[in-house]
Amino acid sequence: MRPRKPVCVKCNKTLQCESINGRLVELFQNNEMIYKIWHCDIYKCPKCGMQICYGFGDKPAMTDIDGQDKCAEYVKTERSLGKIIVYDYE
Ligand SMILES: [Zn+2]
Repeated sequence: MRPRKPVCVKCNKTLQCESINGRLVELFQNNEMIYKIWHCDIYKCPKCGMQICYGFGDKPAMTDIDGQDKCAEYVKTERSLGKIIVYDYE
């Protein structure tokens, strides 16, 4: 079975799951539009503190097909619910 947790290359330490409430917002069009929004876990290196998004769902929670207004509203609501919003700039 493959390893199921990411490892920090710098520290040679297994990253720990810090939160299962991450939301990754992929941007496009010079970062002015939302392309896709994913649920994800946030993992952190216990030594250097480096954090990554990991463990994405099979399907995005929202896409540009849903419309920019709905995507923006979704991000706003999720933030207000305490989700960790991470942006993936081009
Ligand atoms: Zn590290």
